[in-house]
Amino acid sequence: MSLDHRIAVVTGASSGIGAATARLLAARGAKVALLARRLDRLDALAQEIKSAGGEALAVAADITDPATLAAAAGRIGATYGTTDLVVSNAGVMLPSAIQARNTADWRREVDVNVSGVLNVVDAFLPGLLDAAGAGRPADLITMSSMTSHVVFPYMAVYNATKAAVSHLSRTMRTELGPQGVRVSVVEPAMTATELQGHVTDEGVNAWVAQAREAFAWLDPHDVAEVVAFTASRPAHVNLSQVVVYPTRQT
Ligand code: NDP
Repeated sequence: MSLDHRIAVVTGASSGIGAATARLLAARGAKVALLARRLDRLDALAQEIKSAGGEALAVAADITDPATLAAAAGRIGATYGTTDLVVSNAGVMLPSAIQARNTADWRREVDVNVSGVLNVVDAFLPGLLDAAGAGRPADLITMSSMTSHVVFPYMAVYNATKAAVSHLSRTMRTELGPQGVRVSVVEPAMTATELQGHVTDEGVNAWVAQAREAFAWLDPHDVAEVVAFTASRPAHVNLSQVVVYPTRQT
């Protein structure tokens, strides 16, 4: 399970699944670049990781802005060397009725969850290919959602963005696998993070509240364990897709 000598970047590391993943990758020996917009959160997590004996670098960047991402990739490369483990995790969920036509929210979900992921791929893929070319393990792990497989009301745009992430990942694998870069998509279900805190639709909030009562949600660490396990397989083993449910969620 060791990730010694790995150089990782985790997007969305300022909270939730990303923060838990960064913490765990560092605990397993990786040097971890923490990427998100809230630098104060990243600085605090970097400090926590260093106090526990790990290595972490806080890098503020907005994944919807290719220029700041390119600068971030340059800074990570200058500090740690070539990134060989990319966890593209940052995302937003802003559900509402489709007939409410919340176009600003639609656009933000597409900008962050789809275009943002492509910007991350653009910024870090050259390093992954270099690492694989040099015989090192190389991983591109995307955070999709079980919602990429299911349909229910108010989630049309979010679910569509996650279906795009899953299919993008499966399809990229057909080109990158033969070059030694593993591509994996993790598809969690209900996980206790800040994600649901951005929901303004009353109907969705009522559903979320009853779901919290109905079953025990995943902890972000549960998902982080899947990411760390995936990245620590032998280089010839690619766990390409993992769906993670709370046991009592159907
Ligand atoms: P959080 O809201 O806790 O974390 C989201 C992270 O994304 C934050 O660190 C946030 O950082 C970052 N982020 C958002 N927008 C941007 C941006 N433009 N640029 C850079 N970073 C950004 O939610 P989760 O931890 O739950 O979400 C992580 C991933 O898991 C998401 O892709 C989500 O869709 C997915 N997921 C979550 C599930 C759940 O039930 N929680 C279930 C299935 C999938 P900052 O605001 O500092 O930029």
